[in-house]
Formats: sequence, C-alpha cells, structure tokens
Amino acid sequence: MNNLDKKPDIDLVRDFHSVWHPCTQMQDHETVPPLLIERGEGVYLYDRDGKKYLDVISSWWVNLFGHNHPRLNEALKRQLEKVAHVMFAGITHQPAIDLASNLVELSPHNLQKVFFSDNGSTAVEVAVKMSLQYWQQTGHAEKTRFAYLKGGYHGETLGALSLCGLDLFRKNFENVLMQNLEVQGPDCFRCPYGLQPESCNAECFEPMEKTLAEHKDTLAGVIVEPLVQGAAGMKMYPPRYLKKLEVACKLHNVHTLYDEIAVGFGRTGSLFVCGEHKLNPTFLCLSKGITSGYLPLAATLTTDEIYSAFYGDFSTLKLFIHSHSYSANPLACAVANETLAMLTENNFLKTLQPKIKALGEYGKRLEQLEWCGEFRQTGMIAAAELVQNRETKEPFPFEARVGYRIFLEGLKRGVFMRPLGNVIYFIPPLVISVEEIKMMMDVAVDCIKAVVEEKN
Ligand SMILES: *Cc1c(COP(=O)(O)O)cnc(C)c1O
Repeated sequence: MNNLDKKPDIDLVRDFHSVWHPCTQMQDHETVPPLLIERGEGVYLYDRDGKKYLDVISSWWVNLFGHNHPRLNEALKRQLEKVAHVMFAGITHQPAIDLASNLVELSPHNLQKVFFSDNGSTAVEVAVKMSLQYWQQTGHAEKTRFAYLKGGYHGETLGALSLCGLDLFRKNFENVLMQNLEVQGPDCFRCPYGLQPESCNAECFEPMEKTLAEHKDTLAGVIVEPLVQGAAGMKMYPPRYLKKLEVACKLHNVHTLYDEIAVGFGRTGSLFVCGEHKLNPTFLCLSKGITSGYLPLAATLTTDEIYSAFYGDFSTLKLFIHSHSYSANPLACAVANETLAMLTENNFLKTLQPKIKALGEYGKRLEQLEWCGEFRQTGMIAAAELVQNRETKEPFPFEARVGYRIFLEGLKRGVFMRPLGNVIYFIPPLVISVEEIKMMMDVAVDCIKAVVEEKN
C-alpha cells in the first residue's frame, strides 16, 4: 500500500494528531494515512518519497492547467511584488477591474455585473441573498423560497446546503435549513420515463413545471448545476432541460441561478454552459477553475436589472450588505486573469477536442466491464457508475466500500482518483495528454477488476 509498508512518516503522525480533514472519516487514516504531497508538476503530484500520482480529479475539480505552471506562477509573482491583499470596500485594484470586465465579456450578454467572494459556497450564498433582497425591494417580499433539483449540490455552508438535494450532506442539519423546495429533476441512468437522453424531450421537466406554476408567488429562484450534477456522481442530462427551465422561469417571474462552479471554464468543452447553449441566467456562480486551482476566489455575475434594484440614494438603504474579508483578493484575481487568457488564446478550447474523443474511446473499456451500469461523458468530464447487476442496475451495498477500495488500488498504481460512492469519475486537468488519458482509463479498469473480481 502507498506508505503503509514502512514506519509512518513523523509528519503524518503529527497530521493525525492535529488535523481534521474535510469530508473524511478520520479513523480511516489510522490504517491509510493521507498522501503527503510535496510538490506538483503538470498533471502529477509527487509525495515525499518522490512517488508520482496522476491528479485525475484536478485536486477537487479546481485545476485546469496543471500544477506549478510557469505562466501562472509568473502572474502570481508579478502581483505579489505589488500588493498581496487589500480590502475591497472603498478600494479597488487593477486585477479585479480586469477580471470583472473579462468575465462580463466572456459570459452571456445579459450578465453585466460581477460580485467577488472567495469560494463556491459563498458565490451561491451571494446569489441567494441578492435574489431575496431584489424581490423585497421590488414589492415581492413574499418570494422567499428556492427550488432545487434532487441530486443538486451547491456547497455546504448552511444557506448553500439548503439548496442541496443530497441526503448525505443534508441529513444532520435538516432541522435548521431554509424551507426550500426539492424537485425531482433529470435522472438519465434510471430514467423514470424510460427514455434516452439523446432522443428525449426532457419529459422530466414536468415536476419542475408543476412546481413553478404552483409556487411561483413564493418562489424567488431556481438553482441548477447545468448539464452535470457533480457531487451526485457526475450525473449528466441534456441541455433541453435548461431551455425549458429558462422559458418557464421567465413566464413565472422566477430567477434562474446557474451554478457553473464545477462545469465552468472549459470542463464541458466550452467556456461556460450557459454561453454555449445561449441561455441567459439571472445569476451565474463561478469558482473552482477560475484560478486554475491556485487560490480561492469566486464570482457571482448578475444582470443590470438586479443591480439597479440596489442602486440609489444612501438614505434608501438599498445597498447589498454582504462582505468577505478576502473578497477579490488581488493575487487570486491576477491568476484568474492569466487563467482566462490561457483559456481563450490560440484556440485552446479547440485543442480539447481530440482529448474529449480519447476520453470516450478509452472509456469504452470501462463501459464493457460487466459492473459498469453506465459510462457517461460531457466534454472533459467522464464517469462510470458501477453496479452489482447490470440488468437491474442494483447498486453495490454501501458496506462493501467498493469505491473506496478502488481508490486504494489507484494509489498503488500512481493514480489519485477519489470516487463518489460507487461512481468512478474523471475530471482531469485540461492539459492532460491523450496518452495520459489512456493510462488513466487502463488503470481504472485494472483497479475495478482488482476489487470486484476479488468478490465482496
Ligand atoms: C464545489 C462546488 C460548490 C462549492 O464550492 P466550495 O468552494 O467547495 O465551497 C458549489 N457548487 C458546485 C456545483 C460545486 O461543484
């Protein structure tokens, strides 16, 4: 196993003493300590012993251009020589001004204003609070609830968690969450209508249509992860659903909140899903890839109409009172500007096409495994949902820890892939090569076989 065979590193002992890691049953680290990563280079991470690991999930979906990238390093150093941080009320700076205008230019034309914060959850909180206050200030104080999709994930602070359609994250806090409306959304693998995503007409929009019609008077907005529900296990659905959503929300006077925190910045093959499909959300939440995984930063984009409802004489007290100490951190903004330049120069997104093709082609090996219930792909994101029985789609039991054991097999083979339950997924840095994609898929097949053929 990775670093079990020898005496544990003293720093790993110290880690175990003092560190509480996110989303981790700490007891697991009694037997399998975390990787002690010393450096990164391109798509690889290197541990203290020099062993390298392919960063298959882009360090929690944030990294686009690989680790230790000379251009991003340079942009960061240039800004570091000037100023590392200043508050963002009463003060502004060039990196933020550039970033806001870049984001406005690259996003759908209806989005004209950018509000900065420092992580994905806060980007969502900002959109939610802006939406609520907008309705209050325009004579609709009764609009206080949001509709969200089953399986949706929008962060884990309490406000964001109130929009989360995953029991695993919610259940311990259910008693204190905002009273929002959970709506059955797309579920293409287990489609209740028995249809195929290639040919359906997003019949699954029906429950949302009903919710909107019935609750429009109290609904402030609808939040979705466009095309890919990440934390649900990279569940994917066709853009038709989003077109219907946009039409219905307009009709019923309800805001659309697009959470492109995971799918934005090239992951689907285009810069933003909403731009690619000509959608005009009321709010667009961005984070993760915005700094290519260098520093925490987030942006909530919105329309002039929303902005105008807050604009006026100071005595009206219509301002948006929301602030984070590290809003628009200059170092982060500088790296974000460089990231955007790299994404938009030299037809970078076009260079993804052969990789997207390779992901699908080598993914076929996974698809052919008898435990692969579904192999799915949207651009540079791919996932294999493992099941016990392909016919009935019966999942592996929770207790078997199939995903976790596959993760451990991956570590042995120098691939860091951290599954979501029994979904093995791939969201590699965009700079991964076709050869590395092949290697990643081959290793995934080996790991799955090693675990499942062992017999649970
Ligand atoms: C990761 C994620 C968030 C939360 O971002 P954090 O920076 O982890 O708070 C919100 N929405 C989506 C879709 C995400 O993938």
